[in-house]
Amino acid sequence: MCIFCKIANKEIESFVVYEDEKVMAFLDIRPLSKGHTLVIPKEHYENVLEMPSDIAKDLTNAVKIVCEKLKKLGAEGFNIITNVNKVAGQEIMHAHIHVIPRYSEEESKPISFGKPIECDLEEVHKVLKD
Ligand code: 5GP
Ligand code: ZN
Repeated sequence: MCIFCKIANKEIESFVVYEDEKVMAFLDIRPLSKGHTLVIPKEHYENVLEMPSDIAKDLTNAVKIVCEKLKKLGAEGFNIITNVNKVAGQEIMHAHIHVIPRYSEEESKPISFGKPIECDLEEVHKVLKD
């Protein structure tokens, strides 16, 4: 079973931001910004192109809910990104959408998948969990 399937099954712990029957959202362990969240279908698909359209719809709805939650951290914008296949930088072969909140004190440039930031995920989760 892949690592994100294990997270969806609660066999591996994560800081859950949103969950419904089909979808789960949790904090990225190596965040590119404060509140960087991954939104996944609970069922395993290799990437977003493999998902049936009803699941794609559920995932999109969850992304919107997550963005609203991330505004509680002061986020003013978002990079919503998905990597498809290794050539594009996909490391975990279970479909996921990166929701990366952006803040006005940062440089207004597209995010790059470079160095993660130092961030206390537990503190961030306290703000987002409800
Ligand atoms: P990808 O490069 O596949 O688009 O992104 C995978 C993301 O998953 C990375 O940003 C990485 O930090 C995150 N990640 C990898 N393993 C874990 C894990 O065990 N828990 C959590 N919360 N995030 C993970
Ligand atoms: Zn999986």
